[in-house]
Amino acid sequence: MRKEQPLLFERGARGRRGFSLPQSDVPAKSELLPARMQRKIPLRLPEISEGELVRHYTALSKRNHGVDSGFYPLGSCTMKYNPKVNEEVARLSGFALLHPGQPSESVQGALELLYRTETYLAEITGMDRITFQPAAGAHGELTGMMLIHAYHASRNDQRKTVLIPDSAHGTNPASAVMAGYEIREVPSDERGLVDLKALRGVLDHSVAALMLTNPNTLGLFEEDILEIAAAVHDVGGLLYYDGANLNAIMGHARPGDMGFDVVHLNLHKTFATPHGGGGPGSGPVGVKECLVPFLPVPLVEREASGSYYWKDDLPESIGKVHGFHGNFGVIVKAYTYMVMMGAPGLRQASSDAVLNANYLMERLKKRYALPYDRRCMHEFVISAVQQKKKGVSAGDVAKALLDYGFHPPTVYFPLIVEEALMVEPTETESKKTLDRFAEAMEEIARLAETEPERVTAAPHATPVGRLDEVRAARNPVVCWDGNEKNS
Ligand SMILES: *Cc1c(COP(=O)(O)O)cnc(C)c1O
Repeated sequence: MRKEQPLLFERGARGRRGFSLPQSDVPAKSELLPARMQRKIPLRLPEISEGELVRHYTALSKRNHGVDSGFYPLGSCTMKYNPKVNEEVARLSGFALLHPGQPSESVQGALELLYRTETYLAEITGMDRITFQPAAGAHGELTGMMLIHAYHASRNDQRKTVLIPDSAHGTNPASAVMAGYEIREVPSDERGLVDLKALRGVLDHSVAALMLTNPNTLGLFEEDILEIAAAVHDVGGLLYYDGANLNAIMGHARPGDMGFDVVHLNLHKTFATPHGGGGPGSGPVGVKECLVPFLPVPLVEREASGSYYWKDDLPESIGKVHGFHGNFGVIVKAYTYMVMMGAPGLRQASSDAVLNANYLMERLKKRYALPYDRRCMHEFVISAVQQKKKGVSAGDVAKALLDYGFHPPTVYFPLIVEEALMVEPTETESKKTLDRFAEAMEEIARLAETEPERVTAAPHATPVGRLDEVRAARNPVVCWDGNEKNS
């Protein structure tokens, strides 16, 4: 590891200050705080000037890679550029300073925004009602599974199995298991699509639902979706749509029309809210009419007079899955994004996302194996199996990309592709960026042939090199302790 700029604690000196606070009017030794809870030794804090502090955080921010600093083709994550106007609107005091407990007469604007966002998302997905409570995609999946469970229970129908394709995102089986279901895996066929025959073979009256994303995680459109839906419905099962890949079809096709009964969306993917750094997400869940009675409470309703109110009386509701009304700020950003884009803009975004992915796929398949060579949707999965013969794995290719200033694609997922590299360029990238990325990938492929050790030792230009990921996970050191070895 190279020598780095000193961190905050090594900077500064005794007595330096970057702030000035008014005189405290709280008695120094407060009677309110028992003596045993009072600090005996002053807390050790860095003493640092404002300028040093600004440089510290600016330096830290430069060590990171984000959508605002470069290309981020992390497959399945839809790391598109997030317009700053979304942030400005979410920060408006009329939104940001609301308290979720305020009476509805005083938050009519916020309720109207939720109502309108629900209308838009229902239109985009082909669903009847939407709950905004789930805080992420996986949380939406769990909510959807609970809704499906409540639906079958209300019909006195005991069903224990959820079917999930082998290409599915790992959160799908986890969510279904958390909701009390057993998982049965459905294999993919040689096209990379759900094997319809195998699916028919496992469909019976114990099946509560099939969870599916379309396009699937290979970036391929499930062409048999209407037959799949009919087959599942025929045995009384429901269809769950993992909407993480909605960016491929927005404005072109609707899960509701494909036969899906429940949908979650990732507002922090498709609807332009930053994610990946741990910020709040939002995974609204849309349902068809038959599942509306079970939705989390409350829902926003509009009176004939035009005023909005919270509807709490859903006797069969599964209850609440989040405090108050979900991550409201993220919903404001999604609303802003949809209004700014308009319906034609959203449709165009999906068209461009698909075009960008196909352009890159056609270039990269000359140097990397493409296990499912079909027209892709918004993303595609190539494989480093050829490079692996020279000792260069998908993980090595990913590390090498860091030296070119790109965030790597998703690696080793989906599980059905060996040495998988899952590339999702999104619609917000120019052809020039796509070309630069393709050139980097081509050069890495060349190096894998000629100088594989350069690739396997990468990255060479990042603040830290290869980390011991197992040790970092098993023994995380999250506080600065002055021990150089741990930094
Ligand atoms: C991201 C993703 C999820 C989970 O969404 P989170 O918001 O990360 O919980 C589920 N399925 C697919 C296909 C995804 O890409």
